[in-house]
Parts: sequence; C-alpha cells; structure tokens
Amino acid sequence: MKFGGTSVATLPRWKKIKELAASRRNQGARLLIVVSALSGITDALWQLSLEKNKSKRMASVGKIDARHRALLADMGVEHTTLLDTHINALCTLAESGPSQRGELVWQAQLLAHGELLSSSLGAAFLTRLGLPTQWLDARDCLSAVTLPDHNERVRLLSAIVDTRFDQTLDKRLCNLGDVLITQGFIACGNNGQTVLLGRGGSDTSASYFGALLKAIRVEIWTDVAGMFTANPRQVPGARLLRKLDYEEAQEIATTGAKVLHPRCLSPLREPRVPLLIQDTRRPELEGTLIGPQVHAHATSVKAISARNGITLVSMESVGMWKQVGFLADVFEYFRRHGLSVDLIGSAETNVTVSLDSNENLLNSNALAALGSDLAKVCRVKVIAPCAAITLVGRGMRSMLHRLSGVLAEFDQLRVHLISQSSNNLNLTFVVDEDVVDGLIPRLHELLITSGALRADDSALFGASWESVYGEDKADVSKAWWHKPAARSRLLALGMEVTPRYVYHLPTVRAQARTLKTLTVVDRLHYAVKANTHPAILHALAEEGFALECVSPGELDRATAVVPDDVPLLFTPNFASREDLKRGLASRATLTLDALYPVAHWSELFRGREIVLRVDLGRGLGHHEKVRTGGNGSKFGLPIEHIDNFLHHADTHDIVVRGLHAHLGSGVLDPNHWGEVYGQLASLAERIGSITFLNIGGGLGVPSHPGEAPLDIEALDKVLREVKMAYPHYHLWMEPGRYLVADAGVLLTRVTQIKGKGAWRYLGVDTGMNSLLRPALYGAWHEIVNLSRLEEEADGLFQIVGPICENGDVLGSDRRLPEPQEGDVMLIAQVGAYGKVMSSSYNLRGDTEEVVLKN
Ligand code: ADP
Ligand code: ASP
Ligand code: MG
Repeated sequence: MKFGGTSVATLPRWKKIKELAASRRNQGARLLIVVSALSGITDALWQLSLEKNKSKRMASVGKIDARHRALLADMGVEHTTLLDTHINALCTLAESGPSQRGELVWQAQLLAHGELLSSSLGAAFLTRLGLPTQWLDARDCLSAVTLPDHNERVRLLSAIVDTRFDQTLDKRLCNLGDVLITQGFIACGNNGQTVLLGRGGSDTSASYFGALLKAIRVEIWTDVAGMFTANPRQVPGARLLRKLDYEEAQEIATTGAKVLHPRCLSPLREPRVPLLIQDTRRPELEGTLIGPQVHAHATSVKAISARNGITLVSMESVGMWKQVGFLADVFEYFRRHGLSVDLIGSAETNVTVSLDSNENLLNSNALAALGSDLAKVCRVKVIAPCAAITLVGRGMRSMLHRLSGVLAEFDQLRVHLISQSSNNLNLTFVVDEDVVDGLIPRLHELLITSGALRADDSALFGASWESVYGEDKADVSKAWWHKPAARSRLLALGMEVTPRYVYHLPTVRAQARTLKTLTVVDRLHYAVKANTHPAILHALAEEGFALECVSPGELDRATAVVPDDVPLLFTPNFASREDLKRGLASRATLTLDALYPVAHWSELFRGREIVLRVDLGRGLGHHEKVRTGGNGSKFGLPIEHIDNFLHHADTHDIVVRGLHAHLGSGVLDPNHWGEVYGQLASLAERIGSITFLNIGGGLGVPSHPGEAPLDIEALDKVLREVKMAYPHYHLWMEPGRYLVADAGVLLTRVTQIKGKGAWRYLGVDTGMNSLLRPALYGAWHEIVNLSRLEEEADGLFQIVGPICENGDVLGSDRRLPEPQEGDVMLIAQVGAYGKVMSSSYNLRGDTEEVVLKN
C-alpha cells in the first residue's frame, strides 16, 4: 500500500491509513506500506538544495523539523529516536553543503529525507495505535541498475531498479514482521550511495516492491478516487476509469496523468501484479483497477492528457534527403547530452522531435550544448514552451472518423506536430503551452458528445469527478420516465402497442418556463420542425411562445392549431417561388436567406417587411450535418452579398426589418448567442432599418450521463451584457430541440437476439424508419430495457431495427441486462426530430404518438 504526500500529511489521514492497514491484516495479508514525504516537503528540500547560504539552509531545516514535530504531537507520540536520527542527519547535510562527493550526490541524500522522516513518523504512530509496524530502509531492498546511456544526473536523481523476483527479499521481510513501513522515492546506487527515482517516484517504489515480492496487489492511495478520463482538477466532468489494462494505463500515465508515475506500471506487467488506485480520504469509492484482465467493451478513447514543458527541436537540412545516416548522426548528439526523444515528425528536409522535461531533467545547459552540436550538421530551431495533448485509447486509428468535431477545435491554433503512436494507443498534438488549460475541458466534452469517448459504457467509465466530489449534474435517473409511476404507465403503453412515441407535456412546459426566465428576450419562437404534434404546438402557444415554420405545410399546421394572435415566423430555405407566395399570403413574418428571390421575384415582396438571414461565416453544433453556417452550408446570405441584397430591397420598396442568424444545433456554450447578437447588431447598425435581431436557436440538451446542461442563468447574463451594448434592438430566439427533446421517448419491443463472434445484436421492432438520428448524425440516445430497469446491465449489445440497411443501428455497444423477447425497450430524448423525421421506408407502418398530459 503506497500513500502519497497528502495522504500522510495529517492526523486524520494517518487514522485512515491505520484502518486500511488493519483491515488488510484482518484479511490475512502481510503488508508493506510505502510512504511519500509529507506534501510540500520534497519541494522544500529541493529549494534547500539550491540555496547557497548556509544559515538559510539551516532555517529551512528548522521549518521542516517543526512540521514533522507538530504532526508527531498531533499523533500523540512523544518522541521517536528514528525521527531524531534523520533530522540530525539532515542538519549535518544542510550544514556541510555539497561535499566533495559532488552536488548531485548531496542533493539526492538531502531529498531522500522527506520519505525517511515521514516513514519514521508512520512507524511510531501505527505501533502506538496497536498495529506493530516495523520500519524498513528501502535502500536495503531496492538496488538501482546503471544503464550505459545514463548520465550522472539520471543515475542519481531518476534511477531505475532491477525488479526480478527476489525470494531472499521476501524471506528477509517475512522475518521482520507482518506490517512494514518503508520509503518511496529512494533506492541504493551501485556504490552504496542514496539515489532517487524521479519526482513522483514513490508510486514506482511501490511497484518495484510489488514485483520483487510478487505481491497480491499494489494499492496506490492518493487524493483522488482513481485514474480519470482527464485531470479532474482541470476537467470536473472527467469520468472515473474503472478498469484498465496495463498498456492503456501506462499510456495515460506517460502522457501526463500525474496520478501514476509513468515508470510504475512496467515492473508489474510481467509478474501480472494488479494495481489499484483509491482515495485515502474516501476509501468507500471504488477506484481504478489496472490489471491483466479487462472485459470486452466498446472501442473508445479512454482519456485525454496533457504535458506542459515540452521543447521541440526542429532540424532543417537540405542535404538530408536520402542522405544515409543523417538521423543516426543527429540522434547521437541527443544521446551524448542525455536527452531522450519522445515524439518525431519528419519531412524531406526537416525532422522535428520533442523533448519531455519530466523524462529529461532538462536544464538549459544541456539544451544549449545540444543546439551547438546540432548546428554542425543542420539548421536548428528550438520551439518552447509547448504542450503535448494526447488522446489515449486502444485502436486509435479505427476511431479517427469520430474525431472530426474534436479536431475542428484545433482550427485557430498553431499545431506544431501531430504524432500517432505506432502501438495504435495514442494520438498526440503539440501546441503552444498557453492554450492548453482552456482547450482540454472543451476537448473532453467534445470527445463525449461525439461518441469517441464512450462514457455511457458503465463497465468501463464510472462517475464523474464532480458528481462524486462536487455538485450534481445531468443524470438520467432524474428523467421523467425514470420515476416509478411514469415507468409503469410506459410499460403498459409498450405492452399494448409498439413502436410508439410518447410525449410528456409537463416536461415541455417546464422547459418552456425555464426559457421564459431569460429576461432580455422579447420573443421566443418554437421551431416547430422539431415536433409538429398539435398537442405540443398548443401547449407551447399557451406558454406564450410564438411559432417558427419552415414550410407551407408547417404554416398550415400552425394556423390550424394555435389561435390567430400567436405570431408566426416563416423561415424557409431554398423555397420555391410558390412556397414564398404561400408564406406571404399567411400572417407569418418572412425570412429570406438568398439573393435570388429579391433579384428575380422582387414583385412578390414589394412594399413588404422581411427578415434577412445572414451567414456569419462559421457553423457550430454536435455534428457536421447540423452546422448551418460557413461556406459548407446552404443556409444564410453570405456577408459579402448583403449590400447587393439591400440594393435590390431598396429598388423594390422592400424593408428589411430584422436580421437573423442560426449557426447550428446542440450548442451548450452560452457565450455563443452573445457573440451572434453582437455580430448581428453591428451589421444592423450599418443597415439602419432593422428593429429586431433573431439570434436563432440551437440550445443544446445534454444527452450523455454526467454532461452539464446549458446554463440558462449564464445565458441570461451573457444576453443582458450584449443587450446593454446595443439596447435598441428587440431580441428574438427560436429554440426547438431544447423544448421538446427530453419530453419524448420511443417504446419498442425486443424481437430477437443474435450472436456473431464476440458481437451480440439485440433486435427491436422498429429502427431508422421511426428514429433516423442515430443513422443520420451518429446521434447518441439513452436506451434502457424498461422491463428490466433494476437488473444488472452486464451484457454488451448492438441495438438494431428490422430495416434492410446496415446503418439501421439505434445504439452501439450498449450495456444492458440480458434481454428476452417481448421486453419493452425505451429510447430516450426523442421528442425532437424523432417522429417528424420518420419514414415509411421498407413500407413499415406508421409509428403512432401518444401524449401524456400529466
Ligand atoms: P500523490 O501525492 O498521492 O502521489 P499526486 O499529486 O502525485 O498524488 O497525483 C494525484 C493527482 O494527479 C490528482 O490530485 C490529480 O490532480 C492529478 N491527475 C492528473 N491527471 C489525472 C487523471 N487523469 N486522473 C486522476 N488524477 C489526475
Ligand atoms: N516525495 C517525492 C516527490 O514529491 C516522491 C513522491 O511523492 O512520489 O516527488
Ligand atoms: Mg504522485
């Protein structure tokens, strides 16, 4: 059991350590406890080692001494000789300064004292609490090996230990006792001197011991409940990784997840010792288990990590092309300066490599010396500080198609290097260091929404960090259909007839009321294309919503269903002359988004007031098919055509009263609408006749468990701010999906199950004919077996319909209980773009709709 710096820094943590150790003893295990230095102490010792002034060094020792004595007093231990011995040794070292044995040797000895002191405290405390614990000097057990290319710095400060199973060690320890405590971070060098295992190396000590002793298990106890899909301090929505194999965990650790030292997995791989990471403060949380066996799961990105402090060395030489041995010459210089190369990119006349500061103990001298050597054979450019962002997951190459939205985020950034590891486990981007903090949370979110990180696979991904440690976020168990009364109603409906859409009107109304809290929005239009069911139109009109239609058919439906005083907007795209005539004949306000109608059919609009939809040059949204801006999209008038449009309008006595833009769907960032308002307002200032701005819809609804919903309060704040800058325009919006998505579910029944190799197909009685979104957008919808909601979901299924199309897949790699023919399945969040997109393909019958009024 290894306890990290924060786990050994206070009395309450030591009490936990005692409990955990005692419980392992009760299970009959022998126990070796490996401890880090108290948090902050290694840093303090490092500073001390750089201090030239002796009295300042002694003052630092005084502080370190006081910190340990204070904890000892908290522990109720009066005195321990071990602590005194190590404090005295530390004093002597600080007093003498770097001896004739060399600065690095001295530094290693000094830094070793953090762990020597913490383990002394631990031995005294555990023994006092009735768990006799023997102190062990790690340097008597762990021997460093010297590899030929290790320079002195590496040998002394970042040593490697031989980990072949050692039976004599096991016997020796057995004779010492059943509970032992020792130091992380330190080992014995080949001349008997103290060596260190690199910063954060206590994890590695634990696994060296684990391998040497063939332990049952290595447990890493730290300040977080395991390895997460991203650094949880940076990405609160990061999900716990419940189980990992050695290779993937290794990759995550190497590429920046500080929770495990990158060197600590390889010693365990061959003896197949599992490693468990848990939170000392909250041992009841399940943690991450890393081991040889991992069950079948969806192909998925497992984590995104980042490493700062990356230096790129770009080597340019015209003479390099086909010149035998150039790389050998160049790399020889890296070897000579003890610098290990991480990523490599090459072109005809350029090779660029990255150096990782953690691996290289980089100092500017080494880099400068390398530079002047390399200058002999090529032109050198050093690019720093950079950061490497890495996506990790087995089979990365087969996931590229899901990464388009993620890659789009790199749009405006300087990407210096892209590297795809030959083991197919990672994809790395080197960018400027200053962009990383903002980028990682966004990329993590996109990985989930694009389905590249399959956070829905509960066998693999556990709770999000914030749901365990922070405030609660979106959770399906809060959905209306999850409540017991609704479930039994839905089950009864599903047993009667399937397939069937069911809409819950109270949910529609609740969403509508949430939007009505937006204080500066003057008019909300429901975009009826999302769901044209009369009951929904009616309910939303009652809630005070206007309606937005995109076709004569929708206009007819709206006029038939809602009272005449409900305002209508008609926003067609590539509408025919006939369509526009029909629109103009209705009471709707017409929006145009092209030059052609005003240039060729101007007489239709003479004397009328219209809205102009512009293309702000970029699109947004959860899938390329829903991004409705930029040259790749057919919507909106390009800005460069506006003057021409206005000229036609002027000539034909057409007044442009409103400006409109809608960039796409599924947007969860409130700032987006503020930007649209700002851009439209500055265009409107130029035009003069404008009185209102329609900033579109696209308000996202989180679909994946744990995803944060759109913050409406934040949206309100954003809108209030932009409205203050341009207060003279009325503000309109046109949400669709936001109002109705969660209100609808699709009920369908299990027809049959088919096994094919490792794949299991679960057939249901409808497919893409009823619900097109998964096939069209790769959209993810929660799917549950309503008949077995309480049963353990341990099978992995592809949920498919009866349509003769390979794309007829409603959900892939879903974790579900063992199904039976006739079970009622529920597909969630289909109130928007469900029924309205359905077809009669394969002449499958119509899917009926049921409305629940309460
Ligand atoms: P210890 O002192 O116990 O060794 P560390 O500070 O070395 O603890 O490692 C734990 C920290 O690692 C966490 O508090 C977290 O900030 C950081 N970390 C970075 N990436 C990850 C990740 N992917 N999963 C979990 N923790 C991470
Ligand atoms: N105390 C050492 C450090 O801070 C080793 C560790 O905590 O893992 O780097
Ligand atoms: Mg650590």
